[in-house]
Amino acid sequence: MSNHAGAVSELVEQLGRLPGIGRKSAERLAFHLLRVSEHEALGLADAIRRVRKDVRYCSACFNLSETELCSICSDPNRDKTRICVVEQPRDLMSLEQSSAYRGVYHVLLGRIAPLDGIGPDQLTIDPLVERVRKGNFVEVIMATNPTVEGDGTSLYISNLLSEYPVVVTRLARGITAGSVLEYANREMIADALTGRQKL
Ligand SMILES: [Zn+2]
Repeated sequence: MSNHAGAVSELVEQLGRLPGIGRKSAERLAFHLLRVSEHEALGLADAIRRVRKDVRYCSACFNLSETELCSICSDPNRDKTRICVVEQPRDLMSLEQSSAYRGVYHVLLGRIAPLDGIGPDQLTIDPLVERVRKGNFVEVIMATNPTVEGDGTSLYISNLLSEYPVVVTRLARGITAGSVLEYANREMIADALTGRQKL
């Protein structure tokens, strides 16, 4: 049981549900929000409201976007013959920060994880195959995470794509198995891209 006032306990409880935030941190954040100016605290609330209202998935690549097509898909300077397949929008962000890739992306919104009950149908694999079928892609770069599930997902997709005239490659294993793209630094990502191999 909490001994905070109702509204404060509610905030502590909400913050405590965020990933990586324990009870103590939730309390610290809540009291911080009570201490800062009203303008600053409500700025956070507005940012949350706005992100939920305005941000959706790009209709082509499933990256996060505030418009029908994301900024990458609508950029005429991106190489539209190469498509890099990632699990999550945050993986795409890591690759973008490395500035080593100029093609477009496809975000799967997860990976095949039979133990968690996640099958291919729950991902954006069908739209990916459709893009490859209709587009002028020469290369599909698999950049799923180097985990058992990421590798399995990548293999599953490369089998589906084997009937199309595209080369399927995979990021080089500069990134240690088990680590995730999200935590890799930009040099590691650039090396993994440069050293990518045919799958
Ligand atoms: Zn897009």
